Amino acid sequence: MTTDHLTRAKILIVDDEPSNVRLLERILGISGCTNVRGTTDSREALVQYLDFEPDIILLDLNMPHLDGFAVMQQLKSAISAEDYLPILVLTADITSDTKRRALANGAKDFVTKPLDHSELVLRIRNMLQTRFLHLEMQRQNLLLEDQVRERTARLEEAVNELRSTQEHVVKQERLRALGMMAGGVAHDFNNALTMMLGYGELLLPWLLQHGSPRELTYLNHIISAAQDATHVVSRLRDFYRPAENNEIRVPVDLNEIAVQVVSLTSPRWKGRGLAEGVRIEVQTELRETPLVAANAAELREVLTNLIFNAIDAMPAGGVITVGTTPLADGVALTVTDTGIGMTDSERERCLEPFFTTKGEGGTGLGLAVVYGIIQRHGGTIEIASEKGTGTTFAIHLPATTDAKGTAAPGVERLDRTLRVLIVDDQDIICELLAEHLTSDGHTTTSAADGHQALELFRTGQFDLVITDQSMPLMNGIQLGGAIKAISPATPVVLLTGFGDEMLALGGQPPGVDLVLGKPVSLADLRRAVFQAMEKAEPLASVA
Ligand code: ADP
Ligand code: MG
Repeated sequence: MTTDHLTRAKILIVDDEPSNVRLLERILGISGCTNVRGTTDSREALVQYLDFEPDIILLDLNMPHLDGFAVMQQLKSAISAEDYLPILVLTADITSDTKRRALANGAKDFVTKPLDHSELVLRIRNMLQTRFLHLEMQRQNLLLEDQVRERTARLEEAVNELRSTQEHVVKQERLRALGMMAGGVAHDFNNALTMMLGYGELLLPWLLQHGSPRELTYLNHIISAAQDATHVVSRLRDFYRPAENNEIRVPVDLNEIAVQVVSLTSPRWKGRGLAEGVRIEVQTELRETPLVAANAAELREVLTNLIFNAIDAMPAGGVITVGTTPLADGVALTVTDTGIGMTDSERERCLEPFFTTKGEGGTGLGLAVVYGIIQRHGGTIEIASEKGTGTTFAIHLPATTDAKGTAAPGVERLDRTLRVLIVDDQDIICELLAEHLTSDGHTTTSAADGHQALELFRTGQFDLVITDQSMPLMNGIQLGGAIKAISPATPVVLLTGFGDEMLALGGQPPGVDLVLGKPVSLADLRRAVFQAMEKAEPLASVA
């Protein structure tokens, strides 16, 4: 093994005496060392070292031009601190001062002249052994470093992946929490708005006849403010509302939706262009795509919101591209603009309700509604945006496998009068509903709770029951069930404040023919009465 070191090693000899160099070469040759280079000019030592890259240097001390100490000084600057390159000094002068100086200059060992051959070879071997161990250690270190680097990279990758998953979860959770909060606010506002809108509408015909123009204007302001607020509440509700089992879903062709919405929104983008002298162009890139099971009106709203936002994002004009692409399991609908784009944090937050960068001009509800609708359709939204360059919203929707759909209900007014039983623990709501219904020619009876309602129902004759859901003792669903037990054919309309668990559970509760969310406007109520009656006796209500 030790001879192995000698046969592998490259040895450089620096001695001004040619006979010494030859002698050393011979000694080394006998020991199996074939890779030996010698120089008699010490000024060549550094160049030889750099060129030959020896494993050990045998160095004479007494030399003309450059002595051994000077050579060691030169080598010091060339040998890196991590390298172990042994220098064996060969000298006749072995005083302790010389030894100290040589060691200080980088010598590892000494051999005195005249040379003892076997001692020389043993010492060289020892030093080579250390040299090769050192090299092996360096190799192992490099290997380890590589491994560590590779593992660190993998670890970093995993951490990044974790971080982005976590961000996604946090975002989802934040949207969910905001949705719950928005839902709570919407619920509380519903009752107040029901009053404002309901009594406002009732007051209107009276004021038309008896009031002054100024009173009429005030009332109109009140009504339109309440209508605006109702709109906001219903948008909030669109954001939060969970999917229901009985949602109306028909097979929809997204290309058709795209063409319709581009045309419907054209007054806005063409109009803006004319009014402000900027040019907004809308292009479509529609490819043949599978149908999606969807509510067409909701998808139109999604696309309208995205186009309006794109228009807002291009104050100096630009191009909006609406595209559809078939995917392996669905369809991608994309809206790309060449507008102002978003920062990363804007992009992160833009789906949140009330997040807007448009100040007074924005409500921050558009994308929240888009998000809610797409969630309920089982789809996803991806947003790519760069500040100053533009934005792409990509919506993925699953393709439908079901070709049949439910037709949207008609919106008509019933042309016959009904006897209606109204049930609500709030007198004021009973009164309001009664006023609405009697103004349409129906007759009404009110009950304050379920038990009273059942008593009245058993003794009287009613064509329709309208009941609140949240009431003490017996809730609306329970009452509906009890009514159906007495008279299965009598339609029951359930009024719910938004946020009732029943909505969250989804599905039409048994004993209820129709669910109507509060606040209820006159138009809502008419439509509900019409639909409930048509469901109960389709032929009787044909207009
Ligand atoms: P609003 O339009 O009332 O501000 P949205 O929910 O529709 O509310 O949008 C929220 C915010 O998202 C906007 O205020 C805007 O900052 C950002 N945003 C939406 N669409 C785009 C778009 N196409 N380009 C740049 N920013 C957009
Ligand atoms: Mg918007």
